[in-house]
Amino acid sequence: MHFSRFPRVAIGHLPTALEPMDRLSEKLGGPRIWIKRDDCTGLSTGGNKTRKLEFLMAEAQEMGADLVMTQGATQSNHARQTAAFAARIGMDCHILLEDRTASKDPNYNYNGNVFLDYLHGASAEKRPGGTDMNAEMETVANRFRAAGRKVYTIPGGGSNPTGALGYANAAMEIVQQANVMGLKIDRIVHATGSAGTQAGLVVGLKAMNANIPLLGIGVRAAKAQQEENVYKLALATAEKLGCAGVVEREDVKANTDYVGEGYGIPTPECLQAIEMFARYEAILLDPVYSGKGAAGLIDLVSKREFSGDKNIVFLHTGGAAALFGYTDSFGYDKPAMQAAE
Ligand SMILES: *Cc1c(COP(=O)(O)O)cnc(C)c1O
Repeated sequence: MHFSRFPRVAIGHLPTALEPMDRLSEKLGGPRIWIKRDDCTGLSTGGNKTRKLEFLMAEAQEMGADLVMTQGATQSNHARQTAAFAARIGMDCHILLEDRTASKDPNYNYNGNVFLDYLHGASAEKRPGGTDMNAEMETVANRFRAAGRKVYTIPGGGSNPTGALGYANAAMEIVQQANVMGLKIDRIVHATGSAGTQAGLVVGLKAMNANIPLLGIGVRAAKAQQEENVYKLALATAEKLGCAGVVEREDVKANTDYVGEGYGIPTPECLQAIEMFARYEAILLDPVYSGKGAAGLIDLVSKREFSGDKNIVFLHTGGAAALFGYTDSFGYDKPAMQAAE
């Protein structure tokens, strides 16, 4: 895997740290849990989309685009990182936001990532939940094209073979760090959504013959669908990288038992995981992805699913900006404000 063969706008703060979480590990009483800090990729509160966008935005530049478009849920971290990346390289950004949760909470609709989209100067339009968002984006893009703009469209989550290169590269980064530290990684666990992160990682790990099992914790689709999405994208990504054939169907494993009521609706276990990470490790998870991923990790450790493992790496995919769209979900009684009343 030679990533310099692909155009890249390398603005991420990489490599991100790989650190032990010893207070949390002791509390859980299982394997030592490490964290890969992709919440600290350096772009507008960070997150996993930065690695994908390094390759996607380079393609946009190569085609001479002056406007980049993408789509996501209202509190999309991907849309926010795309808006930030576009600002950074002097490109316009237009985003379509899908109302997947039907929440009427003003914080959900206007705070968190939505506020940051605005600060980065992106324009945004809303669509009702259930819209075919990638198709809708092409329709809107064609309107801009008819008006003379050069538009580059990025699929939801930045999940196509170009974006997934970022996570094949991250797999190499993780293994290299572990080798330098003398750390034997028994498993990598992370939240999986639009599939690009897991697809890239599985290609990278297999192409290096790292022999590290990977588990995605689902946040939306059912298991069979999620694994199929990851597998298909992994095949296309391996092809792009010139290592077709390295990924087999059984390398792709997702556990979708922690989705709860649906995408973007936090479960009690997700909220507990967020509070645990904040109180034991001073690490901020998010209520849509990494909180559910961590809830899965915590539950599976407590059920001794990973009892043969000594070291597990939890890939922190970011998203903490969305916390400010979800404060009402927590049992937060706003003590300081009560005192002032
Ligand atoms: C997008 C996202 C994910 C999921 O990554 P995919 O590549 O879409 O599967 C996980 N965590 C956070 C915080 C995200 O924003």
